[in-house]
Amino acid sequence: CGIIGYVGDQRGDTDVLDVLMTGLSGLEYRGYDSAGVAVADSSLAVRKREGDLSALESAVADGSVEGAAGIGHTRWSTHGPPSDVNAHPHTDADDRVAVVHNGIIENYGSLRDELEDRGYEFESETDTEVVPHLIADALSGGVEPETAFRRAIGRLEGSYAIAAVFSGSETVYAAREESPLVLGVGDGGHYLASDVPAFIEYTDRVIYLDDGEFATIEPSSVVVTDDEGTVVDTSIETIEWDA
Ligand code: GLU
Repeated sequence: CGIIGYVGDQRGDTDVLDVLMTGLSGLEYRGYDSAGVAVADSSLAVRKREGDLSALESAVADGSVEGAAGIGHTRWSTHGPPSDVNAHPHTDADDRVAVVHNGIIENYGSLRDELEDRGYEFESETDTEVVPHLIADALSGGVEPETAFRRAIGRLEGSYAIAAVFSGSETVYAAREESPLVLGVGDGGHYLASDVPAFIEYTDRVIYLDDGEFATIEPSSVVVTDDEGTVVDTSIETIEWDA
């Protein structure tokens, strides 16, 4: 189980899908039963498969997954058996947002009941799927993606490293609570992952997130905030890693 996120700096030398697939293979050691990616352009391209990374590689081989920002996931199932549908990323009904998650959302049952009562339809059996619907619900209330993401995360109880991309956006949003998440600051863009091996091929400059923190990753910036939205002073560490 692991997550990867990447936003390119638009110099065009690094392909988003390449970075995501490299990242997922760097996380294979953590164990997984399915894998998937979402890349944001004017719309979202989502591909996900039960099984090992070769199944996902086949699903993206047609070259149709392109864009400026993306997220990827290797899943170790806790809620819902391994399947294409239960694999991450998960989206809202209108494909406005795609979400990957490591961990367990303890209160997903009551959130799912609440959302279903209000007409949201679920496709998967995962705890994770409440998150894109909560985000979509906030977007429908007229708020910006960052506010919608924060509101959704604010409803969750449990453990999570979560990342999200929105259609038509070049930003990756992330949050952590009792699951690892590290940011990578590179020359060719910005990264986030469950662990450093996911992006060590591209950068050794990292920022470790603490529990309760949020990150906003854009082509030209990485911003870490606390749960109230106040910017947190971060230090970039250069790590030594024998890849
Ligand atoms: N609880 C989520 C699921 O079962 C995430 C599992 C994981 O950490 O990979 O889909």
